[in-house]
Amino acid sequence: MRTVDIIAKKRDGLSLSTEEIDYFVQGFTRGEIADYQASAWAMAVLLQGMDPRETIDLTMSMARSGETLDLSCVAPLVVDKHSTGGVGDKTTLAVAPMVAAVGLPVGKMSGRGLGFSGGTLDKLESIPGFVVDLDLEEFFANLTKHGIVVAGQSADLAPADGKLYALRDVTATVPSLPLIASSVMSKKIAGGANAIVLDVKAGRGAFMKTVEDALALGKIMAEIGKGVGRRVTVIISDMNQPLGNTVGNALEVQEAIDTLRGDGPEDFREHCLLVAAHMLVLGEKVTNADAGREMLVEAIETGKALAKFREWVEAQGGDPRVADDRSLLRKATCVQSTPAPRSSYLAGIDAMEVGLTAVQLGAGRRKKGDSIDHAVGIVIHCKVGDRVTSGEPLFTVHARDERSLGEAADRLLAACRWSEEPVEPLPLFYEIIPG
Ligand code: URA
Repeated sequence: MRTVDIIAKKRDGLSLSTEEIDYFVQGFTRGEIADYQASAWAMAVLLQGMDPRETIDLTMSMARSGETLDLSCVAPLVVDKHSTGGVGDKTTLAVAPMVAAVGLPVGKMSGRGLGFSGGTLDKLESIPGFVVDLDLEEFFANLTKHGIVVAGQSADLAPADGKLYALRDVTATVPSLPLIASSVMSKKIAGGANAIVLDVKAGRGAFMKTVEDALALGKIMAEIGKGVGRRVTVIISDMNQPLGNTVGNALEVQEAIDTLRGDGPEDFREHCLLVAAHMLVLGEKVTNADAGREMLVEAIETGKALAKFREWVEAQGGDPRVADDRSLLRKATCVQSTPAPRSSYLAGIDAMEVGLTAVQLGAGRRKKGDSIDHAVGIVIHCKVGDRVTSGEPLFTVHARDERSLGEAADRLLAACRWSEEPVEPLPLFYEIIPG
């Protein structure tokens, strides 16, 4: 078998066999297939697509590229959640401690920022000392002792995804249904959770731009999960505007902490409660999502959720005092608000533009291996549908210098649409497919 023939076959729109897919994935993982060939192959997949059989083969081969965990020795039922990526999506930071606080273990492998979408690992690393590169022993130990662990793909777990993910980020090959489905589900299968809530984003700030595409992605991922005996609930959620009020690593950590304290923005809190409630249903803690919501609200109100966050941060080497002292998170040197240019209804705010502006500020990567600036980002003070008065703060930009601050403010203003007529707020969710 020759790598170049496999690339050419996909380029020409043909189906790859199970053996060809496995040859490619394992060869790439071992470093025998170069990054430039993997990039060409990923572009061919993006342009030509894959049928369901190929997508399942790709997922299983990526899951087998390293070790696969069996968490049954830790707990009878471990639940995971995964988002397909969005702007301002800090859900894991709040949901994982909420769920663990009510006694359901959360063992999760997360990713880094990808294109305009942020990544949980980058966000967590804005907490001083927080370590995401855990070996399997540490992963197990933390899960057993604390009921919560969030780690990156080590060399041991789904390494094919780790390598391919970093390449896709910088080769414009992210928004592909088979590549996203296999990336997400290979990590989930290797990570060993018995049940998974998939938060599939739809809209301008998501890789799937329409609800139909998001549903197709959700359905194939659920099918892959079921095929290997995992229960999967799919939630299709809106990503036409950023989730919550913040975009940027340290800013998002702060917003998640606020939410765990009961002070977070309404949309983000509701989003987290729904995702977490469905995790409790899959984890057999409750029989329906309403009961789960009640349990989670209580965990927030009694301080149990925030206490679990402190425990989690400390267990992974971070400074738990960030939960109570916001000055411990990194701060940008230039911070300035942009006033609303008119009195009107906010009719739209292009989430992808907001995400790209955050990347331009330094919150994400332009090329593989770039370092990121955890302090920079954007606070958005208004939501679609809000009546905004001229001069009131619309955004606050956190930047490293005046020039990037000015550029970001201009770009964000251009990302807004206005209406003289009242505008309906955007929905939070479009569809829930229970597992
Ligand atoms: N999240 C992932 O884990 N992989 C993708 O490809 C996109 C989002």
